[in-house]
Amino acid sequence: MSEKTIFKRIIDRELPADIVYEDETCMAFKDINPAAPVHILLVPKKEITGADKLTEEDGPMLAHMFIVAAKIAAEQGLKDGYRMITNCGKAAGQTVFHLHFHILGGGKRMPWA
Ligand code: 5GP
Repeated sequence: MSEKTIFKRIIDRELPADIVYEDETCMAFKDINPAAPVHILLVPKKEITGADKLTEEDGPMLAHMFIVAAKIAAEQGLKDGYRMITNCGKAAGQTVFHLHFHILGGGKRMPWA
């Protein structure tokens, strides 16, 4: 069996994290190396390596995660907006191969890139 990712170990409470949200479907915690004043990682509990491995049956899970993201953004004070991104594959900068969304915001208006 392949080794657990860092995020699976956080979900399983084997590694500490600053958890801001959890339910039966997903968990959100602060990024250890924030790229914005607010930088939260939202991860599904289901083990999926990345966005390219999603299937039609993951639709409800994804919809739920977008709704959760909006709640987290509101709780984190991101009233003017937030960015929600996922890096898919090494060339895109993915370093942890457990699907996750970065929720970024705060501070000045973000440049596109
Ligand atoms: P990726 O580069 O795969 O899109 O994003 C991985 C993110 O996970 C990075 O922003 C990185 O800072 C964050 N990260 C890596 N290891 C840990 C960790 O042990 N704890 C937390 N909270 N974040 C981590």
